[in-house]
Formats: sequence, C-alpha cells, structure tokens
Amino acid sequence: MASAAEIAAIRRAIALSAAGLGATSPNPPVGCVLLDPQDRIVGEGYHERKGEAHAEAQALAAAGPLAAGATAVVTLEPCNHQGRTPPCRQSLIDAGVRRVVIAVIDPTSRGDGGVVELRRAGIDVETGVLTAEARTVLGDWLGGLQTRRPAITWPYLITGHGIEALPADTSEARQLRLNADVILATDGAVREAIAGSHGQDILALKDQAPGTSAAEAAAALYDGGVRRLLLDGGLDAATPYLDSGLVDRVVAYLPQGNASRRPLAELPWPLLPPGFVIAGVVRTGSFIRVDGQQDALR
Ligand SMILES: [Zn+2]
Repeated sequence: MASAAEIAAIRRAIALSAAGLGATSPNPPVGCVLLDPQDRIVGEGYHERKGEAHAEAQALAAAGPLAAGATAVVTLEPCNHQGRTPPCRQSLIDAGVRRVVIAVIDPTSRGDGGVVELRRAGIDVETGVLTAEARTVLGDWLGGLQTRRPAITWPYLITGHGIEALPADTSEARQLRLNADVILATDGAVREAIAGSHGQDILALKDQAPGTSAAEAAAALYDGGVRRLLLDGGLDAATPYLDSGLVDRVVAYLPQGNASRRPLAELPWPLLPPGFVIAGVVRTGSFIRVDGQQDALR
C-alpha cells in the first residue's frame, strides 16, 4: 500500500507533469518524484518536450547518487522501449531505485511495459495509485488512444451580437494556448499554439486538404501528433465540430457587467451547446469563465 508520503509525492508529480502540457505531444505529459528512505524528495522532474528526457530521467539526473535506494513515484508506467531516449525502466534499475509507485498503467504497453521488467529486476512495484487524479493531466493523451483524434476545446465569447472567437490578445486566450498543441483557425489553417513548441512536425500540418470533413481533419491532426487542439473561431467555425460530436470541452466567456440589467439583445444562443453541462464557473480578469463538458449521462 502506498504510504502517505508516496500519496503526497504522486500529487506533486501530477502537478509537475502539467508543466509539459502543450509541449510533449504526441508523448504524454508525465511527472516523477524520487523519495529517499526518510521520505525526503531527492529529485523530481517532468517530460518537458517531445524528444527530450522523460520525467524519470529528469528526476534521476536531479537526484544523482541519492537515487540509490529511493522510491520513484511516477504518474505513468515507465517506458520499456528504446526510443529517442533509453527506456526509463532501465534507467531506474541502473540507478538502484528500490520501489516504484505508479498512478496509470500505459495502455500502449500491452502488459509488456516497464512494470514487468522492473519486477523482474527485483524492484517492488505498486500500480493504480491516484489513477483518477493523474487522469486530470493524462486524460487527453489516454482518451486519444481510444478516439484517435485530439481532445478539442472550443473557447468563445458571448456578446450581445452572437458567439464570437475569444480575442487572441487576452490573458484568457494566452492561458488556453499554453495548454494546447495547436490552434485550428476558421480557414482550416493549423498553427502552433505557442511558437516553437513543436517545430516542423506540426507546422507541416498547415496544408489541410480543403473540403475534408471535421472528423477527417481531426484524425489527420492526431496522426500528425496533435493531442490537444483549440478551435479558434465563433459559432460558424465550431458548428461542424459540434455537429460531429468532436468537441470535448467548451469555455464560454461572458463579459462581466452590471449585476442587474436588461440584456442588450436577445440571447443569441444558449450559454453552452446542446449536450454540454457546466463543469465549473470562475471569474477571470475581464470575464466570467464557464467551463462546459459533454454530459456524461446523455
Ligand atoms: Zn520513459
């Protein structure tokens, strides 16, 4: 059973892993914390960017010799394959890690992932610790393995005139871009959410064939490595994606006005698209932000 210190370390690793959102795709955003036998954190890290060191390697590098005898707490099963970087399970074995605590088993490992090799090397392995909490960061990557398309978020601004694109120069839009891989614009162009975060791989996707359906475009983007996509546009741009059931999350921004007033116009549209329910509401700098998700009960 995971100790209180290990549970705390998993939560820390989950939080750290989110620093990779928008930069690691098609790899998952993973976090890792190393605890010494006295439950002190001796190293931690996260997967910063595709092609660079995995979370476990970052944490092991930070810990140096203190990794010997440590417990590695990691949000996703350590990898077992030789890719651009050596397999993490081997790095953990070589570093003398004593125990490994894992939140989510990698579905792509098909029972032949890092856990098997770690156990074979005599390391104590515990899995399935805080899985649901880890999915708050890994969920889009895991979901993509099933749907073979990116998780799609559509932010919009509700005005007296209609449902418009969220202005790009707002802090709200910048925050959304930080967490996304690419932006899909109204004209079908695809651009990096943050310049330089993915390089040529995703920029090559700019040339979407005109006339492709929303589902085909989403599948092509997934094949190109996109896991988190922002739709940039108003209602017209989003409609094909909404109608195809491809939008996973919406973020509605309502300008903060006077508490009591008569609206300037007829409500042009419901607050959320059909089939969506409110998942959270907060104030931002200039707006009321309403997070919507597809109603799971539908
Ligand atoms: Zn790895």
